[in-house]
Amino acid sequence: GTAARTVDVWKVYGSGEAQVIALRSVSVELGKGKFTAIMGPSGSGKSTLMHCLAGLDSVTRGEVFIGDTRLTGMNDKKLTELRRTKVGFIFQQFNLLPTLTAEENITLPLSIAGRKPDKAWFDTVIDTVGLRDRLKHRPTQLSGGQQQRVACARALVARPEVIFADEPTGNLDSKSGAEVLGFLRNSVREFGQTIVMVTHDPVAASYADRVIFLADGAVVSELFEPTADTVL
Ligand code: ADP
Ligand code: ADP
Repeated sequence: GTAARTVDVWKVYGSGEAQVIALRSVSVELGKGKFTAIMGPSGSGKSTLMHCLAGLDSVTRGEVFIGDTRLTGMNDKKLTELRRTKVGFIFQQFNLLPTLTAEENITLPLSIAGRKPDKAWFDTVIDTVGLRDRLKHRPTQLSGGQQQRVACARALVARPEVIFADEPTGNLDSKSGAEVLGFLRNSVREFGQTIVMVTHDPVAASYADRVIFLADGAVVSELFEPTADTVL
């Protein structure tokens, strides 16, 4: 099945001389329970594609779907609802709330959605990510790697249809980065979570099941079962 897809998506910023074509006829299908990396040089359209897929940005032309739900033409209220219920985000800067504990950060999206975390599932996520003894800590009391693992747990505990990760290891040393990537891959393998990750790090991309390469707003190639050597 397809967790998310774009059909002939174009994204144009500005107009006249200032016009930038950020996406040119991008059609991608992202498999359910797969870990897909999007790579490409700076300015190639990676963030724009992720934002369009996640309902954070509208497309100029074409269609976007999360599961069977068509995002194109949805009003802002419906889009906000979709982001709240069907997608999760992991950012380069972690984006944790500094006044909340790790546990409160992790359960916040569910609280906002008026849902209670399933205790067994919460425990599974916490143990998988190795945060059992850090739940009462605040972000400033945690290392960067621990903070990003909190952000991963926050995304996963809500069981979204797709988790979007934007340069999740961009602020981490290679050891912490490897832990986070290992956790992301395990959540795909063990829990069937669908993950889409933007990165320009070939090592990070090698954790994915598939890499889609963008250049100048278009998909130029792709690779299945990548290794750090073949991604380069
Ligand atoms: P990447 O994530 O691969 O670095 P982006 O998706 O951020 O690429 O950008 C793709 C192109 O769109 C670039 O030329 C960038 O300058 C342009 N762009 C991105 N966002 C905007 C915006 N809000 N307004 C105008 N141009 C933008
Ligand atoms: P399936 O599609 O395989 O039936 P479910 O959506 O029923 O999967 O849930 C799978 C797992 O996700 C369950 O173990 C459940 O504990 C957990 N889960 C489902 N909804 C929530 C939730 N709102 N909060 C925390 N965990 C949840």
